[in-house]
Amino acid sequence: MSSTLRFQIVGEAFKKRPVEVPNRKERPSEFFAKYVFNRQKMQQYLPADIYKKMCDVIEGDATLDMATADAVAAGMKKWAMELGATHCTHWFQPLTEGTAEKHDGFVEHDGKGGMIEEFTGKQLVQQEPDASSFPSGGIRSTFEARGYSAWDPASPVFVYGDTLMIPTIFISYTGEALDYKAPLKKSLKAVDEAATAVARYFYPDVKKVVSNLGWEQEYFLVDEGLYAARPDLMMTGRTLLGHDSAKNQQMDDHYFGSIPMRVAAFMKDLEIKSLELGIPCKTRHNEVAPNQFELAPIFEETNLAVDHNMLIMSLMKKVARKHGFRCLLHEKPFAGINGSGKHNNWSLSTDTGILLHGPGKTPLDNLRFVTFIVESLMAVYRHNGLLKASIISATNVHRLGAAEAPPAIVSSFLGKEISDLLEHLETSTDDEATLDGRRESQLISLSGKQTLSLDIPQIPELTQDNTDRNRTSPFAFTGNRFEFRAVGSQQNCAAAMIVLNTAMAEALTNFKTRVDALIGEGLEPMKAILRIVREDIKTCKPIRFDGNGYSEAWKQEAARRGLDVETSAPIILDQYLKPETIEMFEGMNVLSKAELEARGEIKLDTYIKKVQIEARVFGDICMNHIIPVATHYQSMLARNVQSIAQVLPQEEAAPLNRPNLNIIRQIGEHNAFIIENVERLVEARRVANRIKDGRERAIAYHDTVAPLIEEIRSHVDSLELIVDDELWPLPKYREMLFIH
Ligand code: ADP
Ligand code: MG
Repeated sequence: MSSTLRFQIVGEAFKKRPVEVPNRKERPSEFFAKYVFNRQKMQQYLPADIYKKMCDVIEGDATLDMATADAVAAGMKKWAMELGATHCTHWFQPLTEGTAEKHDGFVEHDGKGGMIEEFTGKQLVQQEPDASSFPSGGIRSTFEARGYSAWDPASPVFVYGDTLMIPTIFISYTGEALDYKAPLKKSLKAVDEAATAVARYFYPDVKKVVSNLGWEQEYFLVDEGLYAARPDLMMTGRTLLGHDSAKNQQMDDHYFGSIPMRVAAFMKDLEIKSLELGIPCKTRHNEVAPNQFELAPIFEETNLAVDHNMLIMSLMKKVARKHGFRCLLHEKPFAGINGSGKHNNWSLSTDTGILLHGPGKTPLDNLRFVTFIVESLMAVYRHNGLLKASIISATNVHRLGAAEAPPAIVSSFLGKEISDLLEHLETSTDDEATLDGRRESQLISLSGKQTLSLDIPQIPELTQDNTDRNRTSPFAFTGNRFEFRAVGSQQNCAAAMIVLNTAMAEALTNFKTRVDALIGEGLEPMKAILRIVREDIKTCKPIRFDGNGYSEAWKQEAARRGLDVETSAPIILDQYLKPETIEMFEGMNVLSKAELEARGEIKLDTYIKKVQIEARVFGDICMNHIIPVATHYQSMLARNVQSIAQVLPQEEAAPLNRPNLNIIRQIGEHNAFIIENVERLVEARRVANRIKDGRERAIAYHDTVAPLIEEIRSHVDSLELIVDDELWPLPKYREMLFIH
């Protein structure tokens, strides 16, 4: 690209006005879930007996038979066709990031030379996508290429464009999970059973416990013209080079700032489409980095929340293009400023409306509260390494441990009030801690939110959360939920939710076994619970950390406490095959050893491919874009030096030429470094590619290929500062980050 082209692109990006801001007359409450076949639509489009049957199926109290499926499909087809649907697809979440779909038209021959629209129960319930190229980690060899996708009635079908989308699980011919949804659903069942059993100690009428998830999605927007001029963004999702903009986020002027017009139009459009698809969007704001934003819905049941997050990520990309943007979901699109995460707010609640992670009003409620908090900590403590493995990736590593993101060590922040309470319980004796004894006030003082009276005119009283905020904690308690902040912005939340819910199921199961043993010995149930809680408070103490998670001292302290402090992604992935991981997943009936092996293998393979692609794209950009331009500028300077030497006497020319000669030398040195090391980069890849073992190959990529990219980058970025701006071929950080 010539420089004039870069200026042209920048100029056009600058001139863009918001496309028309969508303006709907109806209120959100009126068009919410317009395109979703929810219970209300079911009631309207299905015969009464079928509707009732479907409700049971959704609740998990009945299985779906073919006759019912046919009747449901008929109603669905009518509804979908009224909305203009002509196709249907099973929509699933393979072990790549993203979703997969294959559309089939409703049309069939009518046997009389014409066409009819058809959609049967069989099509709704099961498909066999011959998708041998989806990652299966060796589970599905190509001669057994069949995989099944099967409808998940717990997540309603919806119409998107002209297509009826059917959320499904994706499993192999032999029944192993090839996706995220199948094990997620199993983990939700496991935590439901284990948590219901424990909740019944306190509330005997509880029949079901649901896992809640409220995700907060961060993202960047970049003008599409500028994006198209950056091969690195297009190919890898992040900038592999680019010098810091002189101004970036140091003024803290973007966070919660006023939303730029073109961005606001995008957000409005996205919200309308999301609400129509039943995604309860609620919050939007600028994030810390320039051109970074956040979106959050109201929390939902975890399975549905995961589907909605997958759907919204694909919507965001599509809607952004309509507004002349590209939406970047990569965890670290730009070096030197904040990356993007996806905070997973997680809690458990009962079918009777009790939030198990929320403090209550009575001493009984509060013992229940403490139990669920402590067992959550036990889960995270026992599997802190695995939880980290669930969110590690070649892209998220650039964010973890950087100054704005949670550190690469999983620990939990509880805030002072709850930490004090746990300390009290830990040191008290059975009698001291009884809920009607002297210490009762300790437990009762936790009830709900305290009122904070502000002495400022016209400002109403605010309620104060029970917790302070600690931005550096990866697993922070925030009043009535835990917030897992290490999840990457483009990841499927399910990976982390599978681990968290399964680990919680395991912790609660162990808890109940021990409590029941004490009750069996004749101890009063509440005393038995208190005793086990006290034991667990001691056991899981190492996971609790309220200090600064970024500090060097914490890294050493965490290692002393036995927490997982590994930072190399391929080695972190070993967690998937540790004995306690296999024991947990098999014990809770969520994933088998073979499935875990497959998952580990796929993660390694994905890691390798991502670094490999980055290395190749980066090498090309260096040699095809940067070196030619730097060399060209160097020649211009050399010609200038020559002409000055020709027109001026030597003693006058020499001092005048000194600065340019200096730049000529600097360019020469950077060029030499870049050329030499791009060759080393190619060689490092070659060496790594020859390694047969996947884990060893990934380690080679991590240890030799990835660091070289960063090393070379610093020389490219130095060149950016000295080469004539007019010649520089790639849009600069200041252009990509400040045009909106
Ligand atoms: P923040 O202050 O961290 O930005 P918000 O109040 O915007 O948090 O909420 C973040 C997300 O947490 C939202 O999706 C919200 O619905 C969700 N959330 C709130 N309470 C709970 C809960 N008890 N369980 C799970 N998610 C919750
Ligand atoms: Mg949050």
